[in-house]
Amino acid sequence: MIVCKFGGSSVSSLNKLNKIKEIVNDNSDRKIIVVSAIGKINQNDQKMTDLLIELCENKNDSEKINSLLDNIQNKFLSIIRDINYKEQFKREFLFFKKNYLTYDNEYIISRGEYFTAKIIANFLGFMFCDSSEFIQFNENDVNLYKSYLNFKRLNISYPVVIPGFYGKDKKGKIKLFSRGGGDESGSLISLLSNADIYENYTDVDGLLTINPTYSKKFNNISTSSYLQCYNASVSGAKVFSSNAIFYLIKRNIPLKIINLETGK
Ligand code: ASP
Repeated sequence: MIVCKFGGSSVSSLNKLNKIKEIVNDNSDRKIIVVSAIGKINQNDQKMTDLLIELCENKNDSEKINSLLDNIQNKFLSIIRDINYKEQFKREFLFFKKNYLTYDNEYIISRGEYFTAKIIANFLGFMFCDSSEFIQFNENDVNLYKSYLNFKRLNISYPVVIPGFYGKDKKGKIKLFSRGGGDESGSLISLLSNADIYENYTDVDGLLTINPTYSKKFNNISTSSYLQCYNASVSGAKVFSSNAIFYLIKRNIPLKIINLETGK
């Protein structure tokens, strides 16, 4: 069983979703697909999560809210192909729009991953499973034991698409991982599902020593130990979150960091 996680940059256009479909259909072991919220469509664009955070910060400014909500809806609509599903999404989004003042911030921000996962599940023709059904937090960290029991009890039908970045707290309210937490969700789900491999799809070739946006003088690390990967991520390599490595170590699950475009 392979768990694939597609980051925000890998789910930001219909072309990219077609690429995801190709990858997933190429190997039937790819049974669990974890996704982040849509990322930037171009350099000047904002990530979906940032738009949702802005929405939370501007609850008193109705003009700003309306423009943000339009922007958010259009960003989702840009990756929906199926006309019927478009209508279904619009209805669900309208409900969110009408009620969003009654939701708490973590719930609002989690809708980035929630809607993205629903859209991709529909696109691939896979089941959707909400991560709040099984990822259980204590105060600040994940309760592994409870999350594992919840996961077992759910008896998920594969293949399935699961939103990253959130779970639920003890009271059943949505709780977010820290920023970039989609990687952590993917690792955690790899551990809970006893995956053989965790594939993490991004927009760079593997693990680079320097963020290529800042400098072209980077080296490409083709194979690394968990420790090297951890060290690279704590020293700024944004490609993989450091916390995510701990779940993989527990069962020695190999991590592959792959460029969606080049397959490297
Ligand atoms: N969407 C979240 C963020 O932008 C989580 C993630 O992408 O991993 O931080």
